Amino acid sequence: MPTNTVIVVGAGIGGLVTAVQLAARGLEVRVLERAPAPGGKMREIQIGDQRIDAGPTVFTMRWIFDEIFAEAGAALEDYLTLRPFEILARHAWSERERFDLYADEERTIEAIGDFSGAAEAKRYRGFCDHARTIFETLDQPFIRSSRPNPLSLVSRCGVQGFPGLRQIKPFDTLWQALGEHFEDQRLRQLFGRYSTYCGSSPFLAPATLMLIAHVERQGVWSVEGGMHQTAVALARLAERLGATITYGADVSEIQVERGRARGVRLGDGESLTADAVVFNGDVAALAQGFLGADVTRAVAKTSPRERSLSAITWSLVAKTEGFPLLRHSVFFCRDYPSEFADIFERSQVPREGTIYICAQDRGDHDASAPRGPERLLCLLNAPARGDQHPFDSAEIEQCEQRAFSLLERCGLRVDRNPEARVVTTPAVFNQLFPATGGALYGQASHGWRASFTRPPSRSKIPGLYLAGGSAHPGAGVPMAAMSGRLAAATLLGDLGST
Ligand SMILES: Cc1cc2nc3c(=O)[nH]c(=O)nc-3n(C[C@H](O)[C@H](O)[C@H](O)COP(=O)(O)OP(=O)(O)OC[C@H]3O[C@@H](n4cnc5c(N)ncnc54)[C@H](O)[C@@H]3O)c2cc1C
Repeated sequence: MPTNTVIVVGAGIGGLVTAVQLAARGLEVRVLERAPAPGGKMREIQIGDQRIDAGPTVFTMRWIFDEIFAEAGAALEDYLTLRPFEILARHAWSERERFDLYADEERTIEAIGDFSGAAEAKRYRGFCDHARTIFETLDQPFIRSSRPNPLSLVSRCGVQGFPGLRQIKPFDTLWQALGEHFEDQRLRQLFGRYSTYCGSSPFLAPATLMLIAHVERQGVWSVEGGMHQTAVALARLAERLGATITYGADVSEIQVERGRARGVRLGDGESLTADAVVFNGDVAALAQGFLGADVTRAVAKTSPRERSLSAITWSLVAKTEGFPLLRHSVFFCRDYPSEFADIFERSQVPREGTIYICAQDRGDHDASAPRGPERLLCLLNAPARGDQHPFDSAEIEQCEQRAFSLLERCGLRVDRNPEARVVTTPAVFNQLFPATGGALYGQASHGWRASFTRPPSRSKIPGLYLAGGSAHPGAGVPMAAMSGRLAAATLLGDLGST
């Protein structure tokens, strides 16, 4: 029997997971990636002789990766060294207001008691229960399901059905729901920030995103050598299973013959045929014709207004002073509604925005502080307008001044050296991830319907499948991995039935 051949366009997390799963089932898999390395957004950049993670930094839901490696007959721990964090992140509002969030519920309750008082600590327990209920309600019927819709969700929720769904408050915004759990506005802000993990505003995203708080309590891990090693590990596994990965291969067209995806054309004109094609880029690129006219109808067109957050990031090797950074530290702005109104209503970089810093040379305890210059990734949320708005050096400088003065307000001084600094703007992200405007998480999850409007793994064109953060179940490393898994399962099911 001839072997089925599959071309995967893109070696981001979703594409790599699909490649692993298909190669493990004996298909002939060819991954074509335009960048010189695997990972997509999970990239690293070089400053001097140091390599710094310039994409995702928070590794959660390791069980999804355990499952993916096990399904391919391998063990995650043979490829990656992961260590769980006790302190998930350190948060600051000023020099005197600092709060550490722990993985352990009891330690966080104690910390909230010290920070906000006993009554707030008691309410946190209710919040944890609520977040857990949401996760347990949605894990199987939504996250792991290939094409959920509101009706299928009700039926898959089993005996709980609609009452079970109402309990998780899908029609409230995250911000409203958090108001029922927290009186301290700083804690509301802290847990509201979870909506940004999928590129959304806490004032518009549904309360169901509270499940991220539960996911984080199940574990945040550090990856030895940096997050980028996760992509390297998946690429190694795919190759070990027989897949080939070609870097520097820009796919300019997905070719359709008699209504079915049959292969691709590369930028240099070469054509490659296959029984199926999996696209791991942002689905907006298909709809906007970046992969040729034949596949524009593969997914519904979306408006740039529906895009998720972009960011301005500063990758630095710098000395720091004052504030005791941990691996993950967050510095909050004073006016949270205004940060998101600036981004989503006024389409401008926030006048004062929350800053996240990943201090890659540190762990989750103060004793881990390095001596001398260290590797930092600083991130400020920004609107995804990189296709309309090039950032000039004066504008970047202005953003940088504002961002680093907020850090100083919280006691952190960063000795910035322009020679050891790389700035990535929405315009740069748009070049790296075409048709996105720099959006890093596909469509924003605004309103309860948004989660059902992401395209499923089977596109509208037979033989063309979708894997990645802009497809179901959404963005973030574990979700993109899930989408890769769903794409492989759907494709295998379709091949089996033909
Ligand atoms: C700064 C930053 C911070 C983040 N923080 C976190 C975090 O802490 N935790 C978390 O879980 N998530 C985080 N994310 C989000 C997470 O990185 C993404 O959701 C996830 O990595 C997306 O994976 P993907 O499968 O969609 O592929 P992508 O990363 O989007 O990769 C797609 C790949 O396809 C390639 N490609 C596209 N078109 C073509 C073509 N025509 N020809 C050839 N190749 C093509 C691209 O070059 C790219 O390599 C962050 C992202 C960024 C940028």
